[in-house]
Amino acid sequence: MAGNDRKKVLFIDRDGVIVRERQVDTYESIEYIPHVFEALREISRKTDYLLVMVSNQDGVGTVSFSYEGFAGPAERIFSTLKGEGIVFDDINIDLSFPEDNLPTRKPGTGMIEGYRSDLYDMDKSFMIGDRLTDMMLAKNMGCRGFLLDSDGIEVPEELSGTVALHTSSWLDIADYLIPSSSLKHREAEVIRNTKETEIKLSVDIDGTGDGHIVSGIGFFDHMLDQIVRHSRFDIDGVVKGDLQVDEHHSVEDTALALGEAVRKALGEKRGIERYGYEVLMMDDVVATCSLDFSGRPEFIWDVEFTMEYIGQFPSELVKHFFRSFSSSAECNLYLSATRAGNNHHTAEALFKAFARAMRKAVRRIPGESRVSSTKGVL
Ligand SMILES: [Mg+2]
Repeated sequence: MAGNDRKKVLFIDRDGVIVRERQVDTYESIEYIPHVFEALREISRKTDYLLVMVSNQDGVGTVSFSYEGFAGPAERIFSTLKGEGIVFDDINIDLSFPEDNLPTRKPGTGMIEGYRSDLYDMDKSFMIGDRLTDMMLAKNMGCRGFLLDSDGIEVPEELSGTVALHTSSWLDIADYLIPSSSLKHREAEVIRNTKETEIKLSVDIDGTGDGHIVSGIGFFDHMLDQIVRHSRFDIDGVVKGDLQVDEHHSVEDTALALGEAVRKALGEKRGIERYGYEVLMMDDVVATCSLDFSGRPEFIWDVEFTMEYIGQFPSELVKHFFRSFSSSAECNLYLSATRAGNNHHTAEALFKAFARAMRKAVRRIPGESRVSSTKGVL
């Protein structure tokens, strides 16, 4: 799997990191670490790390630490975090004793061994813990660690390369992980060269609607301008196609490149609306677009052009553009337009409706870090 597609993980200890280190077996014993909500909320909103809990809770199930005593406060901790928009993708809690010598006991990697696969990028992942065993676990996983510690723990030489940050404040960890205070733009560039076309195209989904795609096909460029303006994506592109043959390859490949760029820019699609919808009127035409960045291509077309050409542009290529976009962006795309309208208006209304539906679908939901699917993946 390509490096950019591999998921980054924040492995997070519980006691000493989320809540004070003590036996948490009553609701009164829950005491949160300062700034944990603020920091984790920002990290959830502004980065694409998976949040994975890794905690040892020895003694649960014994007379002095009943399972019931452990479970209620544990659920309360997670529900409180969830209320602040902080949702763990995976929770691993080991109940063994040190003397059991189980591989799930930190710094053993038993609980999180599955993350040592090609799907995850350990070079860019971190363990957040308050003990050297947490940092040892980071080393064993091949990732690095944030040592959250107010007691001045001395980091041994063997772990100096593992500890990326030794701090007493969650805010330092948030600052480390979030490169700038503004939201990182979702951008992608696609270069697509075939025997029929050469295309270079860049997309910034969090733009302001600047840029042009120049294809050399006047009407098509006019339609692409509608996408830029109404999506508010910044899009720049140059398409050099075999126009001596006809417009077909240029239109198709531009759509494929644009769809690929949008898909790449969206990444894991965490925290986005996912669905977009627009009903748009343009003079004598009402166009409708419904769109779902579902990860699956599906295309439904309920449009009829009454003329074979719009100016010099073959009407059938409007449909072909959107179908091609749907396949490479991996989105469900439905388009319709009222019949008997002016053909230029019909095409333009469709492009505008499509762009505005996209704008809604890619919108980030404030405070939401999850993927908008019960499957957890889009
Ligand atoms: Mg701890």
